[in-house]
Amino acid sequence: HDRVLPRIIEDKARQHPDRVVFQFRQEAVTFGDLNERINRVANGLLALGVSRGDKAAIMLPNCPEFLYVWFALNRIGAVEVPINVSLKGQGLAYQMVQSDCTILVADHQYRDRIEDIAERLADIRHITWTDTQAAAQSIPGWTGFEHLTMAELMGHPDTTPDIAVSYNDLASILYTSGTTGVSKGVMLSHHYWYDIWAQAVGYARYTEDDVLYSGLPLFHGNAQGITVGPAILADARAVIVERFSASRLWDDCRRWNCTEANYIGGMIPILLKQEPREDDADNPVRIMVGAAAPEDEWHQFQKRFNTKILEVYGMTECYSCLASPYDEPRPGSCGKPITGWDVRIVDDDDNECAPGSLGEFIARPNRMWIGTSGYYKQPEASLELMRNGWIHTGDLGRMDEDGYFYFVDRKKQAIRRRGENISSFEVESVITAHDAVLEACVVGVPSDVGEEEVKAVVVLKPEQDASEVELIRWCEPRLAYFSIPRYIAIRDSLPKTPSERVEKFKIKEEGITPDC
Ligand code: ATP
Ligand code: MG
Repeated sequence: HDRVLPRIIEDKARQHPDRVVFQFRQEAVTFGDLNERINRVANGLLALGVSRGDKAAIMLPNCPEFLYVWFALNRIGAVEVPINVSLKGQGLAYQMVQSDCTILVADHQYRDRIEDIAERLADIRHITWTDTQAAAQSIPGWTGFEHLTMAELMGHPDTTPDIAVSYNDLASILYTSGTTGVSKGVMLSHHYWYDIWAQAVGYARYTEDDVLYSGLPLFHGNAQGITVGPAILADARAVIVERFSASRLWDDCRRWNCTEANYIGGMIPILLKQEPREDDADNPVRIMVGAAAPEDEWHQFQKRFNTKILEVYGMTECYSCLASPYDEPRPGSCGKPITGWDVRIVDDDDNECAPGSLGEFIARPNRMWIGTSGYYKQPEASLELMRNGWIHTGDLGRMDEDGYFYFVDRKKQAIRRRGENISSFEVESVITAHDAVLEACVVGVPSDVGEEEVKAVVVLKPEQDASEVELIRWCEPRLAYFSIPRYIAIRDSLPKTPSERVEKFKIKEEGITPDC
């Protein structure tokens, strides 16, 4: 009972109905509001015939309705499938179809893209629009489904639906980012979510005095696991804004007295590239929690903003199985295994590596009910992921003598040169630290002497200039000689996935190009 997500909210609403748990830019939501609206939507979904095990796609920007719909689905044993709102065409259709969604809740701003793929969404019976106008217009070529508005869905009574839900029921299917290929739908139960949230409350030391800030999208695991859930569990408050903005983050945090903010790769360097301000260190944020803070900027960031970096390592498949110890983080390290998880570093034959040597991270939950049961309807990919009971992450790294883990690169993206393994990730962070550089992507390209050469594709900041030679000089004192790029191409942009991850494989496939 206590690990069924909407039941947790129900209890909180009983304990302190007037406490604000979510703050959106325009609207504050108390535990009482949250519970009442979840019940209304849940009753609305029941009236539509949605039942236990049904899947519903949520394609919404960061807004309170996202949370009402998610937990209303879970309240009746149905499954949330958050959709990346930047997807279009085949990628968009794939996630809704592969996950067997019968319902779609969408914002009208995505209507054109949904219209484009409507014919492929044969299983969708109902579509709820956040806008009356959109609901009134039917989509040509798409029959046999019903349009309604969010207001209609929420116009149902707020009585608690009498539906039994078990903590072992499926709560969500979260698609991986699709950086290395087609994205896969990871299954998460109520109990597993509960554990992810409870762990975050523990390692980040959230209390009821905390205000958590997120500008990351609600459809992604980071905001759901590090911000939304922990705020509920810890009786804290979550401030959720429309998107991450380096120029607004600190002022937003001052405005709402935020004590924590989440981050993902690239954000720490971008925050450091903002013009220094006198009040930089004068902010209420005690920690930034997230993944991929470059080691070089670790001290600089904490000093300038007077904010601690709490690095975690995770993936949709094993959440944050590694997290930095709160009192003893180490620069560049993503910490140690969290409670409930074993993490090891192994060679290609799955033999454990000695401290200091490079190998693949593998992880396994060591308590009942924790962890994913695999990818939705992809038994082969699930078996491939969980060989010998261990999740094979495909990520390379090291562990030091004291048991701290260090992410080095994705296995497929590491570069072999002169017998050395080079981390594309490390070279990227050195290049990006240059003042004129906005972003960089580093890959291995074929070399005449066998193995690979290092190639960097660099995007400069607007109105900034730096030559290839200057960038090489910048790298020289900062990188081992074998890691210094042989080729540098300066371009206007990098190819990216809808979730803004660089499509490295495209740059790698290009090999050596005329511009480098
Ligand atoms: P796909 O699996 O579809 O190719 P993806 O792996 O990018 O996509 P996610 O599950 O969102 O999708 O991302 C997990 C990956 O993010 C990890 O496998 C790892 O490569 C990277 N990552 C996670 N934590 C860290 C960290 N602390 N530092 C650097 N990279 C990290
Ligand atoms: Mg992955």
